[in-house]
Amino acid sequence: MNVEISTLDDKVIARGKQFFDSISGEAPSVFNKGWWTGKVMDWSMKNEDFKVQMFRFVDVLPYLNTSESLSRHIEEYFAGEDSNIPDVLKWGATKTGFGGGLVAKVLNKTIRTNIEGMARQFIIGQKSKEAVKGIRKLRKDGFAFVLDLLGEATVSHEEAAAYRDGYLEVLDAIEKEYKKWDALDASGDLDWGHAPKINVAVKPSAFYSQSKPVDLEGTVQGMMDAIEPVYKKIMGMGGFMCIDMEALKYKEPTVEMFKRFRKKYPDYPHLGIVFQAYLRSVDDDVSGLLGWAREENLPISIRLVKGAYWDYETVLAKQNDWPVPVWTHKPESDMAFERVSKMILENHDICHYACASHNIRSISSVMEVANELNVPDEKYEFQVLYGMAEPVRKGLRNVAKRVRLYCPYGDLIPGMAYLVRRLLENTANESFLKQTFADEADVSRLLENPEITLKRELENKPPKKDAELPEGQLPKFINYPPADFTVKEERDGFPASMAKIRQDFGKRYPLYIGGQEVVTDDTLDSYNPADPSEIIGSVCQAGTAEVDTAVASAKDAYQQWRDVEPKDRAQYLLKASQYLKDNMYDLCALQVLEVGKQWDQAQADVAEAIDFLEYYAREMIRLGDPRRMGNAPGEYAQYFYQGKGVAAVIAPWNFPLAISVGMVSAAIVAGCPVVYKPAGISSAVGYGLVEMFKAAGLPEGVFNYCPGRGSVMGDHLVDHPDVSVIAFTGSMEVGLRIQERAAKVQPGQQQCKKVIAEMGGKNGIIIDDDADLDEAVLGVLYAAFGFQGQKCSACSRAIVLDSIYDRFIHRLKEAAASIKLGPAEDPTNYMGPVVDKAAQKNVLEYCKIAEEEGSVVIKHEAPAEYRDKGCYTPLLVVDGITKEDRIAQEEVFGPVLSIMRAKDFDEALDIANSTKFALTGAVYSRSPKHLERASREFRVGNLYLNKPSVGALVERHAFGGFKMSGVGSKAGGPDYLLQFMDPRLVCENTMRRGFAPISEDDDWVA
Ligand SMILES: Cc1cc2nc3c(=O)[nH]c(=O)nc-3n(C[C@H](O)[C@H](O)[C@H](O)COP(=O)(O)OP(=O)(O)OC[C@H]3O[C@@H](n4cnc5c(N)ncnc54)[C@H](O)[C@@H]3O)c2cc1C
Repeated sequence: MNVEISTLDDKVIARGKQFFDSISGEAPSVFNKGWWTGKVMDWSMKNEDFKVQMFRFVDVLPYLNTSESLSRHIEEYFAGEDSNIPDVLKWGATKTGFGGGLVAKVLNKTIRTNIEGMARQFIIGQKSKEAVKGIRKLRKDGFAFVLDLLGEATVSHEEAAAYRDGYLEVLDAIEKEYKKWDALDASGDLDWGHAPKINVAVKPSAFYSQSKPVDLEGTVQGMMDAIEPVYKKIMGMGGFMCIDMEALKYKEPTVEMFKRFRKKYPDYPHLGIVFQAYLRSVDDDVSGLLGWAREENLPISIRLVKGAYWDYETVLAKQNDWPVPVWTHKPESDMAFERVSKMILENHDICHYACASHNIRSISSVMEVANELNVPDEKYEFQVLYGMAEPVRKGLRNVAKRVRLYCPYGDLIPGMAYLVRRLLENTANESFLKQTFADEADVSRLLENPEITLKRELENKPPKKDAELPEGQLPKFINYPPADFTVKEERDGFPASMAKIRQDFGKRYPLYIGGQEVVTDDTLDSYNPADPSEIIGSVCQAGTAEVDTAVASAKDAYQQWRDVEPKDRAQYLLKASQYLKDNMYDLCALQVLEVGKQWDQAQADVAEAIDFLEYYAREMIRLGDPRRMGNAPGEYAQYFYQGKGVAAVIAPWNFPLAISVGMVSAAIVAGCPVVYKPAGISSAVGYGLVEMFKAAGLPEGVFNYCPGRGSVMGDHLVDHPDVSVIAFTGSMEVGLRIQERAAKVQPGQQQCKKVIAEMGGKNGIIIDDDADLDEAVLGVLYAAFGFQGQKCSACSRAIVLDSIYDRFIHRLKEAAASIKLGPAEDPTNYMGPVVDKAAQKNVLEYCKIAEEEGSVVIKHEAPAEYRDKGCYTPLLVVDGITKEDRIAQEEVFGPVLSIMRAKDFDEALDIANSTKFALTGAVYSRSPKHLERASREFRVGNLYLNKPSVGALVERHAFGGFKMSGVGSKAGGPDYLLQFMDPRLVCENTMRRGFAPISEDDDWVA
């Protein structure tokens, strides 16, 4: 039978009105202004700043274990300029009996108690015993339950196992008594005559700490293995398990796991899954699963929600320039909810439906459609969240009977994250509950068909400003999006490209000078660090003669290139960028195999190369227009730039494409032809620049590819009298040597050499006593061990405050122990081999020093089968390190992390600043004052607050340090190109015999 929702609209509205009438005068407890929560909610809805501070404070509260830190945070979060805590927060304090002479201690205690009380409102109990007591009571009131153990981010196997055990424990507690429970509205064992009494919700990502979209198979398996014991226990008790849906990145493995469980236990029907109507893909997702159920002939159960991560998904998409995966107008989510509900109800023969919403319009629509389709009662039910929307649940119970409450239980720490989500949901302007019970919106508007609401919203929206750009103007610079491995094509691109380029292995790479390929007898093999017997290619090596030819060719090209219009030079960069975009997967795959970058790291490298090209092209256009200086009439003075001359670019292997392309393209677009020396171990990737500039049609001689042994031709290139600029990225030792040699004027040299050198770091991350450890642990892990710690921005010192030290170390140790080590080409592996045998030797020496100076927290080795073959070193974390230790001062460039203890934030800053480097740093803290201090006093080039010290993006995080970390201004920043150019000024006297042409911007007499 075909049913159109629009034709049912009158009935839906009538039913909605009845619903409203049946609950008239009632309000959910969260909005009850007679209580603290209601007052705070009311205040939050009226005052956005207070709301932000309040929700952030709720988030940090479980970490404030001393009265000192509690007072400090209350002061920092809430005391405004007049140092007064808002009255709403103090409510309840007077009732303690200390009225009038309120001491801070009492106030603080009251605030804590009130917030914990607010959290308890949404949580059925902290311990399993309380939870069981709570559900027993709910059942007495006629409500079924679905139990959920609080907890989201687990960072290690240990935490995931504890989470699983939490489920087993509560199930044990339920097992002792559930048989005694009377069935709801029925006799026998089943609620309503058909539903298991036990119903449990699970969040898959919390069961498996290593879930990641890039590793679909590993994630599905990991989740399944961890959840299966819980599922078996539930099955043993005849219960129902529902797999919750989390953020989008977990959707595909979650659906896949559901299918596999369903097939593995085909005779056990009580398994459900959740879909989110706010996802644009929801229609396809649900119809896909329904189709699958029919094909497999397996009945299924779906809970439909609108979705709890709307803000997260939109911010994440915007930050990464990914398509926004959720609807952006609220009525679109409502429409999808009604549409997809109907789709599920139409398939009630194969699918049981759980309608999870507090929205009376959405609920009424489902009821009417079910009625119209004659869906039997046992084929659908209604679900709401515990602690929310009490009138709605009561109304539902009166009308539909089959109402299930989603009951979270567990500790307050994860409880606070859940509480923040509920507070956000209740205070959002778009929330049905807020509109109904706080704003008291008109009932007819609340029950309106969302299609009509959407139409009105779109009509009232101000028209978008005309986005068309003037001719020839480039669109604003935006960073190239990072890989989104939730997209299948992105996951499939890597193995396909690796297989393809493997066929090309062993080929010879010539030099490229003056537009010609040059072959030399001397060659150097580049190999796969995971298996050095696999030769990537054989790279011709320049000697001093080839360097001379390359410099001569660049010098020759300079004569014309410096006068090419800046905007025309920029065009070559844009064409080069297009080449990289067109060959993305091949370029990434080559890095995975030549230097051992993990997939996401390789993609980030190629994306950064694209960013440099796009950004510097725009920058040169900006700088390329001559500027008039002064406005004196009768004189015209122009300021403009000219490329300095031949640039020698000496590049590192750790960002083999990005840093090479960055330095080379900056020089070229600024008017300096380039002699480029890639690092020996990444010369195949470096050859990509030849192909890129050929594709861009760059004139001959402007770019010359000149790999060679540093010991043979390095000094010769630096000393060459015809080289004007040297752009270098690499170790401090080599950087300082270059500066020293470049300062000496060689015979025949016509200009002073300019050196731009990015040289390294000893980067620290401070973990404050109130840091969010879920984020801090993962942030440090990523910054220290991503790409094996071989980034100049990598974290090599974690500076941890005393009071949080043990907790942090324990979690970090377990998290590090949980990651897999092995070849980068397998996306299950978090960490791979270091780049070559020399790097391996160097890192192993530093491991020894670290073990002598500190005590080992964890030494995690790759499996022997990999170690025997490739250039592996252990992942090493040591603690007990002081700032005088070598391991705290010298750059290692490998996966070695020192943990340093600080008694307070002052000492942490002192330790952080105690090296000769000043490149990157990070702070994890939820103290606004400490973050402010760190911004001022943590003196590094790039400081990151509450995010890892790595992952700089062109423009947004223009990159570079000072002290011994380098000379020159930031790469990917607004001053970078200026370093490759000399400013010139031409001033013309425009007056002839007392007559001067007047131009508009002259400073003329009034
Ligand atoms: C029993 C139960 C189980 C749940 N399980 C899950 C789960 O597994 N996974 C999960 O993600 N959530 C889950 N939720 C939470 C659920 O997503 C929210 O409670 C729900 O979105 C609120 O919708 P509503 O219909 O009650 O309220 P409404 O006020 O009608 O809708 C609010 C929702 O609309 C959407 N929205 C808000 N602004 C916009 C906008 N500008 N454009 C488009 N859409 C917008 C958001 O999804 C927001 O939550 C569950 C809820 C219940 C009751």
